[in-house]
Amino acid sequence: MPVMIEKKLKTDSANRAYSPWDHAMAQMNAAAKKIGLNESILKKIAYCKRALIVSIPVKMDDGRVEVFEGYRVHHNVVRGPAKGGIRYHPDVNLEEIKALAFWMTMKCAVMNLPYGGAKGGVRVDPKKLSLGELERLTRRYTSEISILIGPDRDIPAPDMYTNAQTMAWIMDTYSMSVGYSAPGVVTGKPLEIGGSYGRFEATGRGVVVTVEEAFKQNGWKLPGATAAIQGFGNAGSVAAKLLSLAGVKVIAVSDSKGGVICPQGLDAERLMAIKAKGGRVSDYDGKNVSVVTNAELLETPCDILVPAAMEEQITSQNASRLKAKLIAEAANGPTTPEADEILWKKNVFILPDILANAGGVTVSYFEWVQDIQSYSWTEDEVNARLGELMRSAFHTVHQTAQQNNVHMRLAAHMVALKRVAQATEIRGIYP
Ligand code: NAD
Repeated sequence: MPVMIEKKLKTDSANRAYSPWDHAMAQMNAAAKKIGLNESILKKIAYCKRALIVSIPVKMDDGRVEVFEGYRVHHNVVRGPAKGGIRYHPDVNLEEIKALAFWMTMKCAVMNLPYGGAKGGVRVDPKKLSLGELERLTRRYTSEISILIGPDRDIPAPDMYTNAQTMAWIMDTYSMSVGYSAPGVVTGKPLEIGGSYGRFEATGRGVVVTVEEAFKQNGWKLPGATAAIQGFGNAGSVAAKLLSLAGVKVIAVSDSKGGVICPQGLDAERLMAIKAKGGRVSDYDGKNVSVVTNAELLETPCDILVPAAMEEQITSQNASRLKAKLIAEAANGPTTPEADEILWKKNVFILPDILANAGGVTVSYFEWVQDIQSYSWTEDEVNARLGELMRSAFHTVHQTAQQNNVHMRLAAHMVALKRVAQATEIRGIYP
């Protein structure tokens, strides 16, 4: 039976339909206005360079053939090869992937990495596929997007519901087609085939480095602070573990099935062990532990809120009820522009996605550099360089925010947009 593809549109407070791409463009326009960006340059950045839609036929285990739709979008490549993750999720659609590709351009620019922005995804519920089906889906998707990817052109990485194994299949499929092993075509690979130490933890580690810097800047004390984390996958679980190690009490966490809360704090390692066995965070039990919905988790009284799942979670509908004093966006696009304004008025300190979760792409960059040089760095080296780059980006953004009296998201987009605009201007418009 053919699958109906619908554009997933939400509504804002005035009930107008908008997509994540509209959300991204609103952020870009606000930053462009603030830096007085030349209109011709802005027009160019307001378009994706290219977008590929592919169909992916997969032989299922029961003999049927199922067809899935996949995407790979390059938003902008003026600063270097396209870089961005691949997502498997039933809600994936072109507007979402375009927005995620735009945020990758901005993220790489805010970190000053020599990359442009890309994103890919397949509209599939990976939880319903066997391992063999997932492998066949990944290999066929790779083959379909192979006209775009390559170590010098476009380097994918993991995102929601893809992982190191997915990257290994992509690397192998691409290598088979070119006739030699090409580890530099993807990052987030297993260590055995050119992955980097520290890549698995990089996104969560980067989140925690920026939280530490934000606490210092605000004169707040991190040990003893409380945190709630929405989403307990790669980004959320590592952030929970490293926040706990920094003395933060993680009082609430959730996954797609709901969450748990405990005022005395949850054990991040025990939660990770439950997830590793295929369980849900709500399987966690103990004294004073109760269940919460994902919506309740966001409104939990705590110092630090870490959205680490999907886009558009903090909206004009719930922003005024949030209690956290700091929001560290491990997820991409979790806060709508309307919610940003509400939170700014409430004095909530936002660590925006393109800064807070940039640890992932930063260590992906380190992995790519190591692959190109066929020389690997130690874990301490990776973590030290990551810390240095994250702290430096934080301070650049923070200074911009202070000097212009704007929130950290607007400041981050101003820094990034200026860099993309400068590169565009210097290169000129072809022909
Ligand atoms: P993941 O697949 O490892 O984990 C996703 C987690 O989110 C799972 O625990 C899942 O149960 C949960 N989840 C899914 N839908 C949910 C919902 N509606 N409500 C609450 N929880 C839900 O994915 P990840 O790699 O950790 O990515 C999470 C977010 O972080 C995404 O927005 C992604 O774009 C962003 N991000 C990831 C990386 C990275 O390196 N993995 C880097 C930068 C940003």
